[in-house]
Amino acid sequence: MQTPGSQSSLHRANLERVVRAVRMAGSLTQAEIARSTGLSAATVSNIVRELKDGGTVEVTPTSAGGRRARSVSLSPDAGIVLGVDFGHTHLRVAVGNLAHQVLAEESEPLDVDASYADGFGRAETLVERLIVTTGIDRQKVIGVGLGVPGPIDVESGTLGSTAILPGWGGINPGDELAARLGVPVYVDNDANLGALGEMVWGSGRGVKDLAYIKVASGVGAGLVIAGQIYRGPGGTAGEIGHITLDEAGPVCRCGNRGCLETFAAARYVLPLLQPSHGSELTMERVVQLAREGDPGCRRVVGDVGRHVGSGVANLCNLLNPSRVVLGGDLAEAGELVLAPIRESVSRYAIPSAGRQLSVLPGALGGRAEVLGALALVLNEMGDSTLLESTHPATAPVFT
Ligand SMILES: [Zn+2]
Repeated sequence: MQTPGSQSSLHRANLERVVRAVRMAGSLTQAEIARSTGLSAATVSNIVRELKDGGTVEVTPTSAGGRRARSVSLSPDAGIVLGVDFGHTHLRVAVGNLAHQVLAEESEPLDVDASYADGFGRAETLVERLIVTTGIDRQKVIGVGLGVPGPIDVESGTLGSTAILPGWGGINPGDELAARLGVPVYVDNDANLGALGEMVWGSGRGVKDLAYIKVASGVGAGLVIAGQIYRGPGGTAGEIGHITLDEAGPVCRCGNRGCLETFAAARYVLPLLQPSHGSELTMERVVQLAREGDPGCRRVVGDVGRHVGSGVANLCNLLNPSRVVLGGDLAEAGELVLAPIRESVSRYAIPSAGRQLSVLPGALGGRAEVLGALALVLNEMGDSTLLESTHPATAPVFT
């Protein structure tokens, strides 16, 4: 037992602060650790040395602003994280380590509406195969991040809206996968994972306040506030697709009228082009045709951008993020969609909220969610898991 406020509990808290800073950033110089933790340079130096001796972190020489520096990251041997992402049409799995290295990824087509038992069976097979092909020690697996294409109820861990995933009604996806793999499972929706993935590996690196907007079969947002995913008490924060744009507009799947989704999601937008372009159209194809100069597809992509931009403007007024990252197939349209988004933001957001905003396409494409699943484990695992083996809380330690 430790006495709160004692020398050893303070020291333990400092160890955890340093591990937490490095865990999400991937690697930081000692000066950056001092800045982000508020600890003195001398304390950081001592703690890093202790963590290095215990095998928790690695220190490599680097340069910062032309000066020699020491870059600190978690040791690749300290633990393995797994990611599993269920999309509406695919299943993706990834393996990474605590040093933010992605060791292997695989994906296969999947009809997620079919049966959850089939889906989880295939996820288990894919995970086992990656463990074998990468040769990792399965004892080192700290946890699995699991992405599902629907809101997760924070309290029960079940899917919040069964209308979105009819084959998955009433099940707890985290418990299901944990029972199969025998390790802790952390679950989140695809938009939140996209936000985490882009924050750790993509267009949101180094940004603490960002929104990841995914426009696909629905429209959702993953919100990162002060470096943490914001879910809200019910887990439904970020349902930007159901902002009302037109009270007399089309009826949405949520039951309201004229939601953003009815002006931007594939199921509402593709029918606009079907009379002129045929019924086989996908959003991916529309984006491709728009890039090739097809006037109808350009018009639709631009209109979607303007409408998404209205939603982003509302978001700016409420949360003032410094970056918005656009994911999904639509991001491939580049400036054809980003310019209208920026135009709507400058038109509808209050100037002080919109001025500091950058709107960028996602850097990870369809990998954002599965990499976000790895990041979810890094984010949620807690620092004591990592320190327990090398720095047991009961050991006498001195600052
Ligand atoms: Zn709606």
